[in-house]
Amino acid sequence: MTLSLPEHYREILVGLGEDPQREGLLDTPKRAAKAMQYLCHGYEQTLEEIVNGALFASDNDEMVIVKDIELYSLCEHHLLPFIGKAHVAYIPTGKVLGLSKIARIVDMYARRLQIQENLTRQIADAVQSVTNAAGVAVVIEAQHMCMMMRGVEKQNSTMNTSVMLGAFRESNTTRMEFLQLIGRSK
Ligand SMILES: [Zn+2]
Repeated sequence: MTLSLPEHYREILVGLGEDPQREGLLDTPKRAAKAMQYLCHGYEQTLEEIVNGALFASDNDEMVIVKDIELYSLCEHHLLPFIGKAHVAYIPTGKVLGLSKIARIVDMYARRLQIQENLTRQIADAVQSVTNAAGVAVVIEAQHMCMMMRGVEKQNSTMNTSVMLGAFRESNTTRMEFLQLIGRSK
């Protein structure tokens, strides 16, 4: 017998020693299932449908950078949120991507069960494969509820991850320029 997602949440409430029949919890399994499905809606999206042809011919070969993209994800180890910002840059080679698409790519991968390292890598690889850029850089700074609310309870620690591809990896100058533009150089 397979339980539906709301039924699983009902079992979780029982497992926690709660009474799923008490008034405040009556609709909780349904609501929690719906919320979790929303937080994981990235599974239903594909890169092709997100980009949807929004690639434009351009002579620009200067760094394009999108800073401070809000990021909400769930850690796959504890199913607890991690929240922060992503900074994405690429160096076009004839094609530029519609600006909102970068944020939507970040969102598609964030709205899945993740670890921050893989999320960073997946965003970089996606931007690279879509734009065929001369280089892609992704930095994510995030705070993890599994660290803040449990375990070591480190309230102020931020985890930083980065993936540098192509020119950002090969050229110190390019990498430094990017880090400077996102205010992370020192
Ligand atoms: Zn975790």
